[in-house]
Amino acid sequence: MKYFDHAASTPPHQDVVQTIAEVMERHYGNPSSLHRAGEDSAKLLRRAREVCAQALSVQPGEIVFTSGATESNNLAVKGAAFQYIKRGKHIVTTTVEHPSVYEACRHLELLGFEVTYVPVQADGRAAADQVLQSVRKDTVLVSVMHVNNETGSIQPVEDIGRRLKAEHPRVLFHVDGVQGFGKVPLALSESGIDLYSLSAHKIRGPKGTGLLYVHSGVKLFPQLSGGGQEGGMRSGTENVPSLVGMAKAFRLAKDASEANVRNWRLLQSWIVDEISGIPGLVLNSSAEAAVSAPHIIHFSYPGMKPEVLLHCLEDEGMAVSTKSACSSKISEPSRILLAMGKDRETASSGIRISLGDEHTMDDAKELIHALKAAVQRLNGLKGGMK
Ligand code: PMP
Repeated sequence: MKYFDHAASTPPHQDVVQTIAEVMERHYGNPSSLHRAGEDSAKLLRRAREVCAQALSVQPGEIVFTSGATESNNLAVKGAAFQYIKRGKHIVTTTVEHPSVYEACRHLELLGFEVTYVPVQADGRAAADQVLQSVRKDTVLVSVMHVNNETGSIQPVEDIGRRLKAEHPRVLFHVDGVQGFGKVPLALSESGIDLYSLSAHKIRGPKGTGLLYVHSGVKLFPQLSGGGQEGGMRSGTENVPSLVGMAKAFRLAKDASEANVRNWRLLQSWIVDEISGIPGLVLNSSAEAAVSAPHIIHFSYPGMKPEVLLHCLEDEGMAVSTKSACSSKISEPSRILLAMGKDRETASSGIRISLGDEHTMDDAKELIHALKAAVQRLNGLKGGMK
């Protein structure tokens, strides 16, 4: 099986697997325990924090370890909303956020918060001007993702962050960085970003492991009460093996980033060109570096259930995705594509191809060959049904 679903999850790096196995076997002490086994685990955790901080060019004390980006996003959005409730009850976000931000905002609305969902343009990007114009006196948080998980569109988060801090220094800025890390450069410290979520399994690390960067001085109302680990922001015994594995994965991803991006851009631009020539398919993403992340290609096959094409491709040994993995079991049109102004047919038939470290031009050629054959077959069926 050729795997083209790296935006959903990546095959763990062999070094990461080995590290996790070693730590699990040898370093089982609770990092909060005072004996040597505990201190041993605490030391590994400290080192993992340093490596993660280095990968982001931030301070180790600004890293909060979590169980993944769903938790990081919930902690950022709800934690900021509850902590700074006296400042106001208004949040600004976009219509295309991942459900872990979008639904967190919806839940806050049920509790009396007001949320402005800034719309996006046809290319899936929100205008920085519109985000800034939505900020009010009672706004406590602006949350905008870096790269969209469905279409790969890049949001102008650096522009938003810099202007937000210049115009409204007290308003916190959260960025869901999951699909951007190692793919699209982002100067975290210079972009006015207070909170930044990452997940390990998108960069060849373990699942169920992530972090939240919390800019020094920013406080968050904890979502989990307990023993006060992670500076009191995230109680619970730390998952030491996975966190050490995540640190390794971040370092490897950062080191490989330049070569990966160069390769992905070549493959992406070729794949996009090919898809634009296949009758019946409609591209929803571009290969333009300023607008689209290098690892995602998204298209629709209007009039055909995306699962049909997905399974046809699977029969040919190619794994792709319908919508994003988190929403692929929901048989409704994509909220993201509708927000981009696509009609219901186009929004109901999206397919995502996402690239990984191992892909070569030969893999891309095999994929396109399979796609052309599948679409030709299905176009014939569509014609026959008329
Ligand atoms: N944000 C984005 C943009 C994502 O793509 C994902 C993963 N689908 C998440 C958040 C959630 O990450 P996790 O799987 O670690 O909970």
